[in-house]
Amino acid sequence: MAYVISDECISCGACEAECPVNAISEGDGKYVIDADACTECGSCAGVCPVGAPAQE
Ligand code: SF4
Ligand code: SF4
Repeated sequence: MAYVISDECISCGACEAECPVNAISEGDGKYVIDADACTECGSCAGVCPVGAPAQE
């Protein structure tokens, strides 16, 4: 199951640079993950300062 970024996101942008498949982009008020592109590697969760990316 793809990772999803919660409303805890502070739009720091750190995860976008870490995603190996460029599945993360800036959305409206928070960053968002393209579920079809996400390979569930977990890199975004590893760099997020607030723990926003998680698997539902
Ligand atoms: Fe990208 Fe990996 Fe995060 Fe999916 S889990 S959005 S592939 S960094
Ligand atoms: Fe949001 Fe976390 Fe990504 Fe920063 S690293 S943009 S806080 S999800």
